[in-house]
Amino acid sequence: MGYNLVMATGIEGLMAAWDGLGVVCRHDRPTGTWIFICLHNDKLGPATGGTRMRVYPELVDAMRDGMRLAEGMTFKWAGIGVPAGGGKAVLAIPEPMEGDARTGLLHRYGELVESLKGAFRTGEDLGITTSDMQTVADRTRFVQGFQNGKKINPSPFTARGVYSGIRAALGVVLGSDSPAGRTVLVQGVGNVGAGLARLLAEAGAKVLVNDLDDERAAELAREIGGDTIDGGELFDTECDVYAPCAIGATLNSESIPRLKCKIVGGSANNQLAEESDGARLRDRGIVYAPDYIINAGGALSFALMEQGISDHGELLERMESVGETVSEILTEALRDDELPVAAARRRIERALGG
Ligand code: NAD
Repeated sequence: MGYNLVMATGIEGLMAAWDGLGVVCRHDRPTGTWIFICLHNDKLGPATGGTRMRVYPELVDAMRDGMRLAEGMTFKWAGIGVPAGGGKAVLAIPEPMEGDARTGLLHRYGELVESLKGAFRTGEDLGITTSDMQTVADRTRFVQGFQNGKKINPSPFTARGVYSGIRAALGVVLGSDSPAGRTVLVQGVGNVGAGLARLLAEAGAKVLVNDLDDERAAELAREIGGDTIDGGELFDTECDVYAPCAIGATLNSESIPRLKCKIVGGSANNQLAEESDGARLRDRGIVYAPDYIINAGGALSFALMEQGISDHGELLERMESVGETVSEILTEALRDDELPVAAARRRIERALGG
């Protein structure tokens, strides 16, 4: 999604190409950070999405990232049937930031979010920890995912949602949703990937893991009885499911011809480098579970907490709905001989009334 933004140049080019509501932009003078709160769509509810913090090569890259991610949130909420709109915030820091500088930035960011009076609600994303969000929440009521005053980490819910989505995809593609005896390659074993790998191993899958951090991957492989895969061999590894849980754009014109899997389903955002990569996957006979649907568990858990569901076990159970949505999308796509992203898009347009 947001592929038209990839070609847009400059801030003006991005603003002209974007179909979102608008961008709240602020320069945080004490830290030299640029803050972009991208509000994409509020048709189903207030713009809601995570806050990302990172160093970007250029300012325009930060704004583009925020805009694309905000659009992704519109798709995610509409796709899984939650009454919320699409939004995302980016804190483009000039250099890695810790201590008082980080706390000060997060407090001022919280004040900015508060000034929007609920038009934007947020949680954690890349580069932002659960404790960071607690700091933001010192200054605003509009941080999601609190229970009894304590900030909840969304990752276990995201992992459980991806697990449910992978089982659903196995059911549609291979006729049985049981992971037992299937081989799943998990790229990136951080918060989400490690949780996913454990769930798969418990269910009897053969789990292969890869991470930039070799030691992290090796430790997890030992724990779950899996194997590690070197980065250079990643895309040539035979498996039933490739689960990208690290970075975006791993599905591209170079990696897709090498893939030896039947299904792609993982937590990473923006997995397709280009829109045409969806067709490239289909042409290779690989079924792709759209990222913004299969990774919706964390977002969904926050929405359910807002509806008053607080029991951890019940929240985890409710992540099964991610699998149900993946199953419906893939079934519709295979029945109509179309790309899963097209089936997902139709579902979203129905929800948005477009
Ligand atoms: P994380 O930072 O905890 O883990 C990411 C892991 O990927 C780390 O172990 C890191 O070393 C590894 N990694 C980074 N680049 C890599 C590469 N090129 N090859 C192999 N490994 C690499 O992040 P996370 O919270 O687990 O999120 C993982 C992905 O899922 C991200 O793309 C995130 O945007 C997406 N996501 C996360 C959530 C959530 O609830 N945490 C929700 C939706 C989407």
